Amino acid sequence: MNAIMLGPPGAGKGTQAEMFARNWKLKHISSGELLRQAVKEKSELGQKAQGYMEKGELVPDSLMVALIRDVIPRDHGVLLDGFPRTVCQAEELDGMFSQVGITLDHVINLTVKNEEVVERLSLRGREDDDPQTIRNRLEVYEAQTAPLIRYYETQGKLRSVDGMGSIEAIAGRIETGIRAHA
Ligand code: AMP
Repeated sequence: MNAIMLGPPGAGKGTQAEMFARNWKLKHISSGELLRQAVKEKSELGQKAQGYMEKGELVPDSLMVALIRDVIPRDHGVLLDGFPRTVCQAEELDGMFSQVGITLDHVINLTVKNEEVVERLSLRGREDDDPQTIRNRLEVYEAQTAPLIRYYETQGKLRSVDGMGSIEAIAGRIETGIRAHA
């Protein structure tokens, strides 16, 4: 199986992605984690990406696509978390997958109310979680990432799941949603 975890910042994508990947034995690829690692290592990519991340802007598509292209396994199922974030990235991903004969099966779309998202992010306390950056990330999400919902709905791959409630309850809903389409 190959899947994507989609949702606004603070929807709980990382937590759910980790659990889902473990259950289904998928390689979990978190674009945010890869970038934070690159920043820590001060690699060329990290240096290019850092400024965007601190402002809550998206890192340019060309950098992201190159980064993901390098880590997609050909012989193992994958769960992408945080990528794609733009329609351009989604189209590039479709191209990458079809080139190596991989199919994308499910796009799990975690839905959360806006107020809840702001509260969760404020509690998380990551470096890019100050109020101004949070607002910016939410705006960026609405403008650039939310259009992916339609994109994958058109492809018949969207599995929307209520992301409110306990971690276990949400994980249960994701499982139910996926099994309904297995
Ligand atoms: P995340 O951990 O997914 O919230 O990502 C943290 C930050 O990394 C985002 O605010 C962006 O600046 C950057 N980032 C992560 N994934 C992407 C992506 N697919 N495209 C562009 N920027 C990204």
